[in-house]
Amino acid sequence: MTQLKIGAATADRIEESYEPNFNAVKFFPDWDPAVLDEHRDWLTPNHYDPASGFLKLSVHSWLLTVGGKRILIDTCVGNHKSREARPLWHQQDRPYLERLAAAGAKPEDIDMVMCTHLHVDHVGWNTRLENGRWVPTFPNARYVFSREDYDHYLAVDRDPEKGPANLGSFRDSVLPVVDAGLAQMVSGAVALDEHLKVEPAPGHTPGTIAIKLESKGERAVFCGDILHHALQVYRPHWNSFACAHAENARQSRRKVLEECAGGEMLLPAHFGAPFACNIDHKVDGFVPRFVI
Ligand SMILES: [Zn+2]
Repeated sequence: MTQLKIGAATADRIEESYEPNFNAVKFFPDWDPAVLDEHRDWLTPNHYDPASGFLKLSVHSWLLTVGGKRILIDTCVGNHKSREARPLWHQQDRPYLERLAAAGAKPEDIDMVMCTHLHVDHVGWNTRLENGRWVPTFPNARYVFSREDYDHYLAVDRDPEKGPANLGSFRDSVLPVVDAGLAQMVSGAVALDEHLKVEPAPGHTPGTIAIKLESKGERAVFCGDILHHALQVYRPHWNSFACAHAENARQSRRKVLEECAGGEMLLPAHFGAPFACNIDHKVDGFVPRFVI
């Protein structure tokens, strides 16, 4: 299990899946086969599977322990959810809660759940199936959602032409939390406590937020899908097929990379092993310095 320390805080990686899962050419419209030759020494086998041409994008949460609180950041795809458009994620049955327990947290121990954005692979464990109903998995948590993302996907979901939003995840993994009165909507830059704040980082989705941590003078950012893959450190202009607004996504990515080059550790949602990195400036851009 990966555990990182940031000051007095710990961040444990809770894996849901880690396997070749997206065709690189389809995932990055700007994909250039020359990058494979340039970066092959570190890309394989942890970040790219040469046999299939697929990226290896981890799907995991970060369990953050700080100030006596346990905070779960991004909640993956979830179990038993109907995702027919994404066969790998359809009706999953994975030992995610067992891995969370192995890291020392039962569902009722979680004080706060934070979603960097409301895409299908960041909200799934918000709920679980109980007696045929989707109920909040973490009954004692407040769930922090971006107001902009919530309003945007609520409108999409209600539009008969466009809904249901995010492969159905808005209905089975977001709305039940709101209905249970556990959601805290945030908008703009907000300090949640003395260690955590959120900052708007729109582009990948309209309301993506960067989650900033500071403990004993050390800093980190949970960036969600502002960057999906470590190659984007070298190619910050590369958007994924899933980025909603191309130019905003590039701006938010560059901003996070600049801030990390200034001393924040980068804890992404999907990088392959070792799953987190620091960022160094190089003459014309950035390079990752992997942690561990
Ligand atoms: Zn994602």
